[in-house]
Amino acid sequence: MTRLIEQYDSLIVDADGVIYRGAIAVPHAIEVLGSVSVPWCVLTNNAALPPSSIAERIERLGLPLDPVNVVTSPQGAVAYLRERGLPEGAPILIVGGSGIDEAVSEAGFTPVRDRAAQPQAVVQGLGMEVGWRELSEAGYAIAAGAMWVVTNVDASLPTEQGFALGNGALVAAVQHAIGQAPDVVTGKPEPLLFHLAADRMGATRPLVLGDRLDTDVRGANSAGMDSLLVLTGVAGADELMHLIDADPLERPTYIAEDLRALDGSADLVRVDTDAPGSGPLPEVRRGLGRAWSHSDVPGNVRDEVRQAIDTWARR
Ligand SMILES: [Mg+2]
Repeated sequence: MTRLIEQYDSLIVDADGVIYRGAIAVPHAIEVLGSVSVPWCVLTNNAALPPSSIAERIERLGLPLDPVNVVTSPQGAVAYLRERGLPEGAPILIVGGSGIDEAVSEAGFTPVRDRAAQPQAVVQGLGMEVGWRELSEAGYAIAAGAMWVVTNVDASLPTEQGFALGNGALVAAVQHAIGQAPDVVTGKPEPLLFHLAADRMGATRPLVLGDRLDTDVRGANSAGMDSLLVLTGVAGADELMHLIDADPLERPTYIAEDLRALDGSADLVRVDTDAPGSGPLPEVRRGLGRAWSHSDVPGNVRDEVRQAIDTWARR
């Protein structure tokens, strides 16, 4: 048997729903990641916190992590600005939290908060203090010709009270005012961050670990990487149902209950028409494999998959 992890030279790991949920560790994540034999890094759309804060949060759960192995969406933004040839020291208008300031300074640009500094670009990410003044400053700068780079366009942010405004909602406010769309979005599911993470580890064959189809799995597929969907976060029965008819870009290579799958046989967790194993989840994987082999899923196959997912959800 080939262990799943032996087929890859590195791991690109989503944080929320894969390593932690709120302040608590996801079951088995700390033991498994603490003992893997390949390099791994955390990839997160979180633009509010610098890599050191994210690394500290994971260390507090018992998993040592060098901040250099945390790749964030603001780092994707500055990589894009470098690619576009912005000179060293160029003023960049920041909208968002300290994670963006830090990424912009580390890349050798000058973070500014005022359009009077004649910013050549605006980098916009989520910050809990962002208000009318900053959004208006961004609007003026973009209208005057600054490049507009946004870290992610998630419309909402789930909190204990319900859905709060995500970065996408604040980007939409600026867009509504100036009648212009952002030049680029750097976070997941765009492939840019995945390539940045692989380059940083010197990886040629990374496996992406995630809990969301629309960001982790879509991003992995867009970047040409394999992915393992774990069912410890957002993805549950509804997402598995969605997979019956999902766009090929949202189909994970593997599905497992949790990260312990990395130590198991790759064949056992691959979504395939004849994936082995008994129990509800192997049944779901086989069913999805059968569904994906048709461009128009036949009714009986659809019913079988739904039944398998129901059985898994009631386990
Ligand atoms: Mg997640």
